[in-house]
Amino acid sequence: MNTTPTTNQTPTNETAKTEPIRPLKISKPGRAPVTHNACTVCLPLGVSLAFRGVENAVVILHGSQGCATYIRRYLISHFKEPVDIASSSFTEATAVFGGAQNLKTAIDNVRISYKPAIIAIGTTCLADTIGEDVSMIVREYLKEHEGEGDLPLFVPLPMQNSRGTHIDGLHQACRAAVEYLSLGPEDEAQAPVERSHTDSISPVGIFPGLVSPADIRYLKELVRDCGLQPVVLPDLSETMEGGLWDRYEPIPEGGTAPAEFAALREALGTVEFSTTVRKDSSAAELLRERLGIPLLRLPIPVGIAATDRFIGTLLEWSGNEISQAHQRERDRLIDAYADGHKYLSGLRVAVFGEEDLVLGLSGFLHEVGMEVVIAGTGGRTSQLAAEMQRLYGCRPEILLEDTDFEALREVVAEARPEVLIGNSKGYSLSRALSIPLVRVGFPIHDRFGAARVQVCGYRGTQMLFDRIVNTVIDKQQAESIGYPYM
Ligand code: SF4
Repeated sequence: MNTTPTTNQTPTNETAKTEPIRPLKISKPGRAPVTHNACTVCLPLGVSLAFRGVENAVVILHGSQGCATYIRRYLISHFKEPVDIASSSFTEATAVFGGAQNLKTAIDNVRISYKPAIIAIGTTCLADTIGEDVSMIVREYLKEHEGEGDLPLFVPLPMQNSRGTHIDGLHQACRAAVEYLSLGPEDEAQAPVERSHTDSISPVGIFPGLVSPADIRYLKELVRDCGLQPVVLPDLSETMEGGLWDRYEPIPEGGTAPAEFAALREALGTVEFSTTVRKDSSAAELLRERLGIPLLRLPIPVGIAATDRFIGTLLEWSGNEISQAHQRERDRLIDAYADGHKYLSGLRVAVFGEEDLVLGLSGFLHEVGMEVVIAGTGGRTSQLAAEMQRLYGCRPEILLEDTDFEALREVVAEARPEVLIGNSKGYSLSRALSIPLVRVGFPIHDRFGAARVQVCGYRGTQMLFDRIVNTVIDKQQAESIGYPYM
């Protein structure tokens, strides 16, 4: 196993080609210049989801009530868990004159109903459009309630001018959480310091982006098995997939705890599953800048090469060896690749979702010999093509960024890949074009068990590999006379 990663840099593929990237230009002749069924959701959804992964926190969305309702509905349908998101419920009058009083009333109501330790406040399109300054409103609120013993900690998210996707919102919320809950105003920027493992179990920060609760449980297990203490943000492992309750819990148990935010200050390093996140949206970058904590950036680790790199870094930090259990998972995965490659080798695939999921999946698909002919995302980083080339030395025939499912349908109809891999919003084009869809990512609204879909590490890759192989076999079986055994 390759265990020679270096920190504070992203991986490269030694076999990377040097040819220029020539993604197909997509024009939309005859189509209205509007988005049809976007490949992303809005920024406040990511903010709301991130703080569902923080212990004893409640989110207030400053703006129209419909935004909170839409986002709740979207999350509940995917995770099959209750999701409360408060709203300052703008009216026509507040849309004109400002909603400061509405927000203060919303804070009062949340304090009474939920008794949270933390209130995170995000803004929606309408509040951004009229220039609401939630930091100033929170300062006013704190002054008006000075001396009250049960005041929560407030995390006001900066105004976003409604730009960005749900994954941008998630990254920005994690950065704000670290800024308010881990760091203090006394933390000036520091030069990087040498950190090394000690006899006690050292913390490591994991910023996984948007992966499933089951993936987060796996990541925590993996980090512990490498001899380190995992601090995951957001930690959705229990809050978005809890057990049966005896009575309704206004705030579900779980999430990143105060002691864990404090532990991040002492972290041996952080791993962020994003190579496309902007520096000023990155929680890990903030820890690196302020405290000199080493940082490894990876796409979501799907496949053997990416997982080797992730685990290799953890082992380098801890000074330990890989456990036999994880080594055996790796061995079994290689065996499965050998058994299953005849079904997948050379197959053309379209993959879509958040940028770092598309990157992670593309690396894995390249690893198992599939050809990514279309890569699509609603993200607007403009880095996807360059990152695919840099990381894997491959490029899709067609690349779509800041795209919608209408554009995706056009290029899929043209390119005719054998398999689609992405979220459930791809179902309509899967059905229309009779191309099977392997559901991965967010959202999965039309299948059961989205919270348990795993892709990370050797274990998640094994599950994904089996699903893709069986999807291909299922299609072949349906189109031929069928066969009873393999
Ligand atoms: S109005 Fe803006 S913030 Fe509200 S749901 Fe729509 S896109 Fe999201």
